[in-house]
Amino acid sequence: MADPTTPQTATEPTPTPAPAPEALSGPAPHLTPDTPALIPVIIDPDDYATLQTHHSFPHTTDHPAYLTHTETLLRTHTTHGQHTLALHFDATHYTDFCTSHSIDPDTPTSRARYTLELAAHGPHLTYQGQDIDTLIHQLIDRAAQHACGELAHLLLDDAGSCKDCGQDRANAAIDRAGRLLDAVLDRAGTGSHTLTCTCTADGERLTIGLTAEQETPDTPTRFDDTDAARLVAVLAAALAASNAPCTRCTTPDPEPAPRSTGALLLRTTAPHARDRLTGWRLLQGHLHPLTAAEVFDAHCTNPFTGDVIPPLPHTDFLPGYDLTPGSTWPTP
Ligand SMILES: [Zn+2]
Repeated sequence: MADPTTPQTATEPTPTPAPAPEALSGPAPHLTPDTPALIPVIIDPDDYATLQTHHSFPHTTDHPAYLTHTETLLRTHTTHGQHTLALHFDATHYTDFCTSHSIDPDTPTSRARYTLELAAHGPHLTYQGQDIDTLIHQLIDRAAQHACGELAHLLLDDAGSCKDCGQDRANAAIDRAGRLLDAVLDRAGTGSHTLTCTCTADGERLTIGLTAEQETPDTPTRFDDTDAARLVAVLAAALAASNAPCTRCTTPDPEPAPRSTGALLLRTTAPHARDRLTGWRLLQGHLHPLTAAEVFDAHCTNPFTGDVIPPLPHTDFLPGYDLTPGSTWPTP
């Protein structure tokens, strides 16, 4: 048995040791391409001020100077060929993390532990040399998507099970949502696709996006698996909220939702062609194709204010296509 105190040779590269915000005090002494780097970025000035109340927090500059230093550090790592992850460090979430793990937030070790948590499960992205302002916007978007996905799972946690056969309604909804996403993309054709899914349930309105690309009819559609999982979660939450009949025993829900609990909109762009917009409405467990007029309204109405948005030029508004030929739901 190996002596646990003896350093082991790793077959997989391990992240630069626990940087947390401390890492921002200067570049690591040994930067090699086989050592990925994790760089937390404190975006919110109030978050930065909160962390500065911790005696162990090493940064004493103002927030703009800290961000400039962070950008330099990110560029230093990528200049050395390191795979570098930028992580959205949120002070409130950090405090909650420390509370839930019964650890003192005012230690470098706790910040490092949270940094690793962010890399595994939190909002982050691969740094590709963008300027700090662009990176901040991207991280804010990523954090919003992450929060949306988490909220969708919270809604699914309340979905319960079928009163007759015991089927877990959350798992069934996720399975069905995944098949629907496949059905939409299988029939979307070639081009660059942007899907937008909304869910309205329990007073919440979730909106999530997914981009996908199919270059030729014979090549698979490519998309980010994490982004796809989030869209599936939001669509599943909308399915569960619609109180559809059980998919195993077809026991109807006693109180089917009278109104639509979600929608799926698709925009496709392709070279030398007009953009195509289409969509579906989720009602009582089914995705119903929208008419062309409804697609126009959905794309040209601000969902929050109801104000009319000018239609995009060079765009065709098309009715939603049939996702389920011969059956209610896509079959395996
Ligand atoms: Zn059932």
